[in-house]
Amino acid sequence: MREISIDLEALADNYRRLRELTAPARVMAVVKADAYGHSALMVAEKLDEIGVDALGVADIEEALTLRYFGIQAPIMCWLLEPAIISDALDNEIELGVSTLQQLDQIAEAATAIGQLAAVHLKIDTGLGRNGFTAADWSAAVTKAGELQASGLIKIVGVFSHLSNTDESSDREQQQRFERAIAEAEALGVSFELRHLAASAGVLSYPEMHYDMVRVGIALYGLTPFDDRPVSDLGLRPVMRASARVANLKRVPAGQGVSYGYRYRTERETTLALIPFGYADGMPRIAESPEVLIAGKRYRVSGRIAMDQFVVDVGDDDVKLGDECVIFGDSARGEPSAEQLAASAGTINYELVTRIGQRPIMKFLGTNPERTS
Ligand SMILES: *Cc1c(COP(=O)(O)O)cnc(C)c1O
Repeated sequence: MREISIDLEALADNYRRLRELTAPARVMAVVKADAYGHSALMVAEKLDEIGVDALGVADIEEALTLRYFGIQAPIMCWLLEPAIISDALDNEIELGVSTLQQLDQIAEAATAIGQLAAVHLKIDTGLGRNGFTAADWSAAVTKAGELQASGLIKIVGVFSHLSNTDESSDREQQQRFERAIAEAEALGVSFELRHLAASAGVLSYPEMHYDMVRVGIALYGLTPFDDRPVSDLGLRPVMRASARVANLKRVPAGQGVSYGYRYRTERETTLALIPFGYADGMPRIAESPEVLIAGKRYRVSGRIAMDQFVVDVGDDDVKLGDECVIFGDSARGEPSAEQLAASAGTINYELVTRIGQRPIMKFLGTNPERTS
């Protein structure tokens, strides 16, 4: 009745396209937050199969789950829970490091379990979130260099994250990134993998690809930009949300529709009930978003409820069981995730990461095709 389909071939094509675009830089596929709602396990399995360079997640727990399910690719994470750093090392998970305390904790865990820790030092070049400040940078590099010399850690990379505010802010961050690297080199520490750009940076600034890029949203065929649709980027949406018409009724003029009667029919008409509510990921706040029923666009009528919404389809010949596409591929005439997100005052990232547990997930491009 409610379906989220995930096109793993589109995912693989997007990965290859991004890999080509950034070569010789490597591509870290970001699969945090359950692969932006696309199922981290299925996505990671597909990417592992096609030889992904690396996977990235936020939490150690997310990385451990991937390892538990047999994912072999290099995995990096950057939001560290101290209590499980040793589990991360045990499972060959690379760690993004942002504080001196974390360096101590990592050294301690590495000593305790006799396992070298692969780390990437994070410099805050302006985003104001994680990462060493410029003031702490030389102390961080010096300490990391000492731990490397004593055989406890291997400094694999250096990284930072852009704010995507505007080009001049991004370029300023890039300059700080380069200065931090030069400073580290002057202190005798060099990096095999320098990485700065996420999707927006990758697609905007070829000169910021360095040795690796970290791509999330673009991998899923969604645009990181307000003004550049995904079709212009040569990518295809991976997720498609749909539901089947569950009820149809003829009603007279003046029929109130859904909570608060925010919509009333103007004349005799047909109301179609679509079972995809805010519990499924349809934003309640969306302002009359467009959906596609049996090939035609309609606007949602009245309040979106927990389980369902209603569409006034006029006198059209809509049938029970007809498919209603909530978002999908605009190249196929379907409403896009970007359109729905915009109608709810949010972004595609939030829309796809907030799909509920209830829709059936279908995976295309697996062999054999799988449903969960
Ligand atoms: C989420 C995240 C990314 C991926 O960002 P996109 O805009 O989805 O490509 C990259 N790097 C870091 C540090 C992140 O947290």
